[in-house]
Amino acid sequence: MINVFTKGLLLSTLITVLSACNKCHMRPQIIINGNIMGTVYSVKVSGHIPVKKACLQQKINAVLEQVNNDISTYNANYFLFHFNHSNNTHPQLISRGLANIIIMAQRIGHDTSGAMDITIGSLVNLWGFGPDKKPVKIPTEQQIVEAQKKVGLQYLNLFSNHRGEWLQKTLPNIYVDLSTLGEGYCTDELAKLMMRNGITNYLVSVGGAISTHGLNGHGKPWRVAIQQPIDYKNAVQALVDLHGYSISTAGSYRNYFEKDGLHYSHVIDPSIGKPIQHHLVSATVIASSALEADGWDTGLMVLDTEKALKLAQEKELAAYLISATNNGFSTVMTTQFKAFMVQ
Ligand code: ADP
Ligand code: MG
Repeated sequence: MINVFTKGLLLSTLITVLSACNKCHMRPQIIINGNIMGTVYSVKVSGHIPVKKACLQQKINAVLEQVNNDISTYNANYFLFHFNHSNNTHPQLISRGLANIIIMAQRIGHDTSGAMDITIGSLVNLWGFGPDKKPVKIPTEQQIVEAQKKVGLQYLNLFSNHRGEWLQKTLPNIYVDLSTLGEGYCTDELAKLMMRNGITNYLVSVGGAISTHGLNGHGKPWRVAIQQPIDYKNAVQALVDLHGYSISTAGSYRNYFEKDGLHYSHVIDPSIGKPIQHHLVSATVIASSALEADGWDTGLMVLDTEKALKLAQEKELAAYLISATNNGFSTVMTTQFKAFMVQ
């Protein structure tokens, strides 16, 4: 018997908590929510708002279309679908946005010794977490070894010249999967949209990634809650004030399947070709961009708690890790993360 759980992460991984200060002077607030990439986005604006809500919605729609264009592997209208489904090993012209994602992915891939690897697609698809969402069946060792041969950042070249940015795969059947960076990238693009339109007090979120600037409707720093790593209810584990930084959480408890009493997360360890099998269940990173936070949270999730903490300390990341224990959960965080915690 197989149970498949694929719940959205959005505001369930990180829920925004506005302070309950009813006596404070309420400033104007626009809230816009919608769907993108199988999850939910949310834009909250407070203070002086130089654009009308309908106009802002239109501009948001245009950004979401551009984001899909840059990163979607699901839709034949977009570049990556064709990149993944063709055997073409010639360099191909790509957007500046996609190039920026690949640069970040290469950096974090390198820093995590391949734990975060956007060429993971063959393994993700094999385990039934890809676009096709195949019926879940545990792959054989042979299938895993075959899929692993198609994973590795060394098979992806990125370069630029006077005509623009180019992406080339040196192995024909490599499959680039940007799912793990999509929420962070989209969040950053929405944040840039706010700034371009003179909006300086905002919180934008896509799935488990959030970016903030300025103050909330109560004139206080935007405060977000890190959720307890359980899939049946929303419960707060910790609160942080972001002060203009971005945050992202990855977890193994929202998107997984169970078979024969074992838990298979959609986060895959490329070194073993299998879903992660350790006690780290949630990794949160605060960084200057949501893209960076989103890349690191996955990288840390792949490592176990001890290795993730050691790496986060070495790289001076603001990281918060929740591990499952026999009596509930235990948490650890870096010094950099402590600075954001609400006591
Ligand atoms: P979460 O849902 O916990 O926020 P993400 O959505 O950020 O996690 O990333 C999970 C997705 O990333 C998976 O569904 C898969 O497509 C992809 N993925 C899985 N393992 C890895 C990995 N080791 N490196 C990069 N991407 C991965
Ligand atoms: Mg991530």
